Amino acid sequence: MTTREPEWTEQDRAEVLALALYRAEFCPCGCGQRYVDTTSDEETGPQFVADRVVCRARLALLEAQKAATTQDVVGGARIWRVRRSGGMGS
Ligand SMILES: [Zn+2]
Repeated sequence: MTTREPEWTEQDRAEVLALALYRAEFCPCGCGQRYVDTTSDEETGPQFVADRVVCRARLALLEAQKAATTQDVVGGARIWRVRRSGGMGS
């Protein structure tokens, strides 16, 4: 006797479709802006400016990885993770 996962409900399907449609709105280049905006007319469409910020979670991860010894036997089996610690909202 085999046990099956319950089939998707109409709600599940609707949510997946909504997510796909939501994601499809974004520019495929990875800029995070809406496709209709990024490909709009330069004269009449929105203007864009770019700057940079640091992802502090990624920074903590990179610093921890850099500090780890390369002689570690566990080596590539280690799974790195980032979690929130202290500060507001934790
Ligand atoms: Zn883009």
